[in-house]
Amino acid sequence: MRPRKTLPALPRHITPEQDRHMRRRTRVLCLTMAVACFGVLIARLFVLQVLDPEGYAARAADQQLRDTVIPAERGEIYSADGTLLAASETRWTIRASPRDLADALVEPAARALSKILEIDYAETLAAFSNRSSNDCLLKRRVDRATADAVRAWCRDNGAEGIQIRQDTKRIYPEGDFMGVLLGFTDVDNAGLWGLELEYNELLTGQNGRVLTAKDAWGYDMPQNYNTLVEPVPGATLTLTIDANIQRYLESALSAAVQEHHVAARGVGIVMDVDTGAILAMSVKPDYDPNDPRTIVNEETRNAVNALEGEQRSEALQAAQQAQWRNKAISDLYEPGSVFKLITAAAALDTGVCTPDSQFVCSGSINVAGTRFRCANGHIHGLETFAQGLAVSCNPCFIQIGARLGREAFCNYFAAFGLREATGIDLPGEIKQSEYYTADRMGPVQNFGPCILHGKTQNSG
Ligand SMILES: [Zn+2]
Repeated sequence: MRPRKTLPALPRHITPEQDRHMRRRTRVLCLTMAVACFGVLIARLFVLQVLDPEGYAARAADQQLRDTVIPAERGEIYSADGTLLAASETRWTIRASPRDLADALVEPAARALSKILEIDYAETLAAFSNRSSNDCLLKRRVDRATADAVRAWCRDNGAEGIQIRQDTKRIYPEGDFMGVLLGFTDVDNAGLWGLELEYNELLTGQNGRVLTAKDAWGYDMPQNYNTLVEPVPGATLTLTIDANIQRYLESALSAAVQEHHVAARGVGIVMDVDTGAILAMSVKPDYDPNDPRTIVNEETRNAVNALEGEQRSEALQAAQQAQWRNKAISDLYEPGSVFKLITAAAALDTGVCTPDSQFVCSGSINVAGTRFRCANGHIHGLETFAQGLAVSCNPCFIQIGARLGREAFCNYFAAFGLREATGIDLPGEIKQSEYYTADRMGPVQNFGPCILHGKTQNSG
C-alpha cells in the first residue's frame, strides 16, 4: 500500500458511472433550455409572420427606405389646329438636408445659396443651423442655369446634403391667351381652374419614385440599393377650340370692350352650328395663365394694394375670383334680339308661319296697353317673315309670337334645352336658368319683350 498523500485541492475521483450520469443530466438540461429559448423565438416569429406581418413589414420598410417622388409630366393641351396651349417644362427643386452639411459649411452655404436662389439669407441660415433636420425646401422649380450654379457651388466646396431634384413647371406658351378657358395649376401642378381642373385626372400622370435604402441613422446607403419606378406622363388633351378663330375673337372682343368702356367684361362664344362644338370662347379682359394671381385691372390692383392685413387678403381673393370667373358660362345672360331665332324656329316648326307669311310694321305695336317700338325708329311697312327676321323687326316678331301662343312658345323654350344647363365640359357653369312658365306668362311677357328679347326672368 502506498502512503496516502495529503494534497489540498485534488479533484474528487469520479467513477465512470457517475460520469455517464452527469453527461446525461447535462444533455437533458441543455435540451430543455434550447426548447424553452426556441419556443419563445418561434412564438414571436409566429406573431410577426402570421398574426401581424404587414404592420411590422411596413415599419421595417419605413425605417430602412426613403421614398423620393419623381413627378410625372403633366399632359399637354392643344387646340384643334395643333397650337400648343399648355406644356410642362423640366425644372429643378432645391432641397437641403442640413444635418448632412458639414458644420464649417453652414454659414457659407446659407450665404452662397441664398444669393444663387434669391432667397432670404437669415431664413436659410436658420434652416441650416437646425442640425437635426434632414429635409427643408429651399426653392421650387428653378431653371437649369440656377440648378447648375447650385451644383457647381456644392461641388467646388465639397458640400453634402443639398439635393437638386428634377421637377416640372406648367407653362402656357401663348401667354395671355385663353386664360379663362385653360385655367391654371396649383403649386403641386394639380389643376385648380378651367380645363386644367376639369381634366385634371386625365392630365395628371403617375408619379415615379426612387426608393433609397437608409442605414440605422437615416442616412442614404450606397447607390446600388436604389429602385427606380419611372413616372408615367399624363394624357394629351386636344380641344375643339381653333386657335385662329380664338385669336380673332379675343382681339375683336378686347377692342370692343375698350371702345365701349365695358365695366363688367365682354363675352364672346363661337360655336359650330352643326355640332355645337365650341370653336372659340373668350371673356375680356382676362388674365395670363402663367401669372393668374396678379390682378390685371390696374384700378382694382391699386385698390387691393392700398389695403393691409386681413382686409387686403380678402380683397385680393375676391378680385382674383372675379378675374378668373368664366362669365361665358358662370353668369346668367338675358338674350336680346338673338332670341328672335328661337321664336322664328318655333313658328316655322309648328307651321303657324312660313317664310313668306306677311306682316306689317308701322313703327310700333300695342300689346295689352303697352306700346313696343321697332328698333332705332324703323318703320318697315309690309314685310315677309323672312324679311322681318333679316331686319330684326320688333312688331313683326310680336305678331309671330301672338300666332305661336303661350303654350307652344314655352314648349319650344323647353325643347331647345333653355331651362337646363348646357353640360359644357368646363367647371363653374351656372346650373339654374330663369324663365316664365306658361301659367305665369301674361300677354306682355308672351308677345312683348320675351319674344323679342327672350326675357325669361320670373321677376317681371
Ligand atoms: Zn319693324
